[in-house]
Amino acid sequence: MHEVIAGCRSCGSTALEPILSLGEVPLADGLVDASRSEGIDPRYPLNVAFCLECSLVQVVETVSPEVLFDETYVYYSSFSDELLRHSRENAEQLIVSRSLGPESLVLELASNDGYMLRNFAERKIPVLGIDPAPGPARAAREAGIPTLEAFFGEELARSLVAEGKRADVVIANNVLAHVPDLNGFVEGIRIVLKDDGIAVIEAPYVRDLIDRCEFDTIYHEHLCYYSVSALAPLFARHDLSLNRVDHLPIHGGSLRLFVGTRDEAEDSVRSYLEEERRSGLTEAAYYRDFATRVRTIQRHLLSTVRELKEKGSRIAAYGAAAKGTILLNSTGIGTDLIDFVVDRNVHKQGRFVPGVRIPIDDPSRLEKDMPDYVLVLAWNFKDEIMRQQDGYRRKGGRFLIPVPEPVVV
Ligand SMILES: [Zn+2]
Repeated sequence: MHEVIAGCRSCGSTALEPILSLGEVPLADGLVDASRSEGIDPRYPLNVAFCLECSLVQVVETVSPEVLFDETYVYYSSFSDELLRHSRENAEQLIVSRSLGPESLVLELASNDGYMLRNFAERKIPVLGIDPAPGPARAAREAGIPTLEAFFGEELARSLVAEGKRADVVIANNVLAHVPDLNGFVEGIRIVLKDDGIAVIEAPYVRDLIDRCEFDTIYHEHLCYYSVSALAPLFARHDLSLNRVDHLPIHGGSLRLFVGTRDEAEDSVRSYLEEERRSGLTEAAYYRDFATRVRTIQRHLLSTVRELKEKGSRIAAYGAAAKGTILLNSTGIGTDLIDFVVDRNVHKQGRFVPGVRIPIDDPSRLEKDMPDYVLVLAWNFKDEIMRQQDGYRRKGGRFLIPVPEPVVV
C-alpha cells in the first residue's frame, strides 16, 4: 500500500536529510462513511526530507494513487467562494494575455469539478479537464465540462497529441505537489504544450510552510513542497523554461509559475533564486529547527484545548479538510476534546474525520448548538469562515486559530 522512495522525487539523489516526522497518520482526505464506522482506519508513516542535491522538500512515503483518489475522495473545489473568485481572476487574465478564442485549447490537470475551466467554456474557448477522482470528474461532465478520468503523465500526453490535441494553455493548480512521478508529469506538460503555449502552475511555497510552521499541510496526498530553486532545475531537465514567478496568499502561501518552451525568463525568476539563496532555502540548516517548532505548536494547542475542556467548555471544529485530519491526528485531539466538526461540503456531512473519528455535520449546527469554541482547522480560509459564521460569533461563540500559534479570537 505504500513505498519509501529510494531517491529524490526530482533529481534522484539519495542524499535526503530527514527534517520532520509526523508519526503514523491516516490518509488525510479519506473520510469515513457511517457504514464503515466499525473498523480501524489504516495509518501510514509520514516523514519529510530535504534533498541536499536539488533542495526539494518532500514526503518520503508514497501511498499508491489508486488508494488516494478513489470513490471516497470528496474534495470539491466549488465549495470555497474564495477559490472560485481566485480562479475566475486567473482565467480572465489568461484569456486576455494569451488572446484565447474558439481555436485555442485550455487543458487543465487535476481539473476537479470543472470550477476553473467553466470560466473559459463560458467564453466558447475549448477546454479539456483531466482528473483521476471519479466523483469530481463526474460532477464536471454533468456541468458540461469535458473531463477525462485519468492520471496525467507522459503516456496520456502522447495520446492527446496523437488525437491532435495540443494546448495553448496548460493549467495545473495544486497538483504538482501531488504527483509521485514528478518527471513524467513535467515531461507530459512539455509534450502536450504548443510551441508558443504556456503552462500556469500553482503549488504551495515551501518558504511559507517552514516560516509559518504550516505542518498540517503535509500529508500523503502532498508529496512535494517547492522553492523556486528546486523548481528551476526540474523544468530545465525537460526543456522547459521557468519564465515568471508570482507569490499568492491562497492555501497558506503558493507560488504561481509561468512555464514555456522558450526561455523568456522575467526578472522575477532571478530575484526569487537570489533571494532564496541569500535566505538559505537551498541549505539544510534552514529546515533543522522546523520539527522543534512543530512540536511546540502541537503541545501548546493540545494544552490549550485541554484547559478549555477542563473548564467545562464545549468545543467544535470547522473544516473537515485534509489539514484537519493531520492536525487532529498528529496532535492527539480526538472525540474526548472535540464534539463535532462542521463543513459546508455536503459530500462530507454525515461522515467522520479518519483516525480520530469525529463526526462531520452542517455548519448551521454551530448556531443551533452554540459550542463555546470552534477550532478552525481550515485556517487558510479563516476570514471567510468567520464572516460566514458571524451569527455564531455575535451570539458569543469564539474561534481558536491553531497556526502559526494557537490564538483565541
Ligand atoms: Zn533532489
